[in-house]
Amino acid sequence: RQEEKKEGNNQQKVYFDDVAGLDEVKDDLKEIADFIKNPEKYDKMGAKIPKGIMFHGPPGTGKTLIASAISGETEAGFIYASGSEFVEKYVGVGASRIRSLFEKAKKQAPCVIFIDEMDAIGVSRSSDNNSERDQTLNQLLVELDGFNRYDNVIVIGATNRLELLDEALLRPGRFDRHIYIGNPNVKSREEILKVHLRNKPLDKKVNIKDIARKTHGMSGAHLANIVNEAAIFAVRENLATIGPEQFNLAIERVVAGLKNKNAVIS
Ligand code: ATP
Repeated sequence: RQEEKKEGNNQQKVYFDDVAGLDEVKDDLKEIADFIKNPEKYDKMGAKIPKGIMFHGPPGTGKTLIASAISGETEAGFIYASGSEFVEKYVGVGASRIRSLFEKAKKQAPCVIFIDEMDAIGVSRSSDNNSERDQTLNQLLVELDGFNRYDNVIVIGATNRLELLDEALLRPGRFDRHIYIGNPNVKSREEILKVHLRNKPLDKKVNIKDIARKTHGMSGAHLANIVNEAAIFAVRENLATIGPEQFNLAIERVVAGLKNKNAVIS
């Protein structure tokens, strides 16, 4: 999945219009995007834009998507990294990878660095004794403190577990803006379905509101999956359009997948 995200981000530009719901989050991030495009405007006012933003909330809710939309809107570079890439057996390897990450970002500035699974490197340093991880985290703190607004680099972290992160990471001047991104409500689910149904042949009998009501508790990633599964069912049956029956089958399949996953976990 990480490889897919990396490649996906290289191939396809994402814009705020591709992210459904999350209106307040988008408003916040539009300001960051404006800063990347017009830093002088903020300079004149003596306003500092946050260096680091931490997204938190359940998986599959569009954290990566909205971060890459900032780069799409501003034409800034986008570097995707996952915290787990920095976790190594040998002391110093993770820290040196962090250093290279920031060097690369500064070279292609303006640039958005997105670090998914922040908890892999950012858990509280007192929580266990792991000197490799501590060094990696220390290096990340050094890098965050070391660049300034003239570097035009914005770092966005994402985690499912904000409470596990080391306080030093969340301090002012570091990841000091925390944005919760939760599972979508019924209206947002409808909007997400519509985004994913763009350019797909849809039978007139399909009631998107109804699908949104039936998918309570699902994330944007689940909804994208349902639309894709429904399209595959339609191809399998040689249909010209995706109909209500294909959606019912797709929902059943995704719900069954969720049940299996829970069974494995519990
Ligand atoms: P994780 O915590 O697992 O990294 P995430 O929050 O970063 O997940 P994304 O990778 O951004 O989630 O979302 C996965 C996919 O789900 C997206 O590529 C997109 O297809 C779909 N998706 C999720 N949220 C939305 C949304 N708000 N609007 C449109 N599509 C969405």
